[in-house]
Amino acid sequence: MLSLTNVVFSYQKSKVINKVSFSLENGQHLSILGESGSGKSTLLKAIYGLLDLNEGEIFWNETEVLGPKFNLVPGMPFMKYLAQDFDLMPYITVSENIGKYLSNFYPEKKQERISDLLRLVEMTDFSDVKVKNLSGGQMQRVAIARVLALEPEILLFDEPFSHIDNSRKNNLRRSVFNYAKVKGITCIVATHDMDDALSFSDKIIVLKNGGIIAEGTPIELFNSKDSVDVGKLFGDVNQIDALFLGGLNDEKQLVYPFELEITDWSNLKIEVLKSYFKGKNYLIEAHYDNGVLFFEHGTLLANNSQFYLKLKDNVSI
Ligand code: ADP
Ligand code: MG
Repeated sequence: MLSLTNVVFSYQKSKVINKVSFSLENGQHLSILGESGSGKSTLLKAIYGLLDLNEGEIFWNETEVLGPKFNLVPGMPFMKYLAQDFDLMPYITVSENIGKYLSNFYPEKKQERISDLLRLVEMTDFSDVKVKNLSGGQMQRVAIARVLALEPEILLFDEPFSHIDNSRKNNLRRSVFNYAKVKGITCIVATHDMDDALSFSDKIIVLKNGGIIAEGTPIELFNSKDSVDVGKLFGDVNQIDALFLGGLNDEKQLVYPFELEITDWSNLKIEVLKSYFKGKNYLIEAHYDNGVLFFEHGTLLANNSQFYLKLKDNVSI
């Protein structure tokens, strides 16, 4: 088990990681979500042992993770860390980079392993190309293959798909995360992209200003609707007074656009501002009493047309 207890870290005076505690079972997949600057990269570095903590402790099973003050070679040997700026060697080939840390003792096995990993990240055709000649996305795929090559106990990924084209991202995510799952490797992924987290995480923690503001399974977080900061991570989210939705008070409710639909009459009267085509439907931006909201609809709605909205029957507040 990985466990963090009251971890505090600051680069200068202000705390970048502020009393973070959580635990993760071996072989599980954790996503660390949060906006840019929330402390995701710093937390990954702390877990890897690249930082000397101000307070608190980090353990992997019985081993304490210690910072550079206590380790000649920073970083824990049973972990692999893919930094945001994947540091590859530019003047050697893709294959050589992936095999860099693999033993030469069984050359055939090594070659086989490199071929498997090239296939996994869809880089077989680039095997003999020098890394300096690759695009950013291709380099990122090589960097992913290189950390997978070693089959560490824990893999730390910092924004692993940030440079990858959308057309390739879904496939690559599935390949890489399923591979880690099958091998029983504990995965920790820092990302601002919920798509990286939703289908794969056993657990998500949400960071804001270096502190955990929400924690749970993807379904728990999606359903909790406790905080706009968390709701926002799932895409557009509305804050609507309960009174407009048939509630008895004027507390703000978090409502996802797909939870609203047009009805004959309700307390929520809207005027359409704009329809955005989304492929399978339209996202409609509309004006209501004291603000703007978004809802999904099957067809385009004319600007300035007026409707009433209600919560779908399976949604409650
Ligand atoms: P994220 O990965 O979520 O974008 P970071 O962990 O990189 O966030 O940064 C968290 C905060 O720490 C930011 O305010 C950032 O400016 C600051 N920070 C990051 N690295 C350093 C550093 N080496 N020295 C000083 N401040 C830093
Ligand atoms: Mg970062």
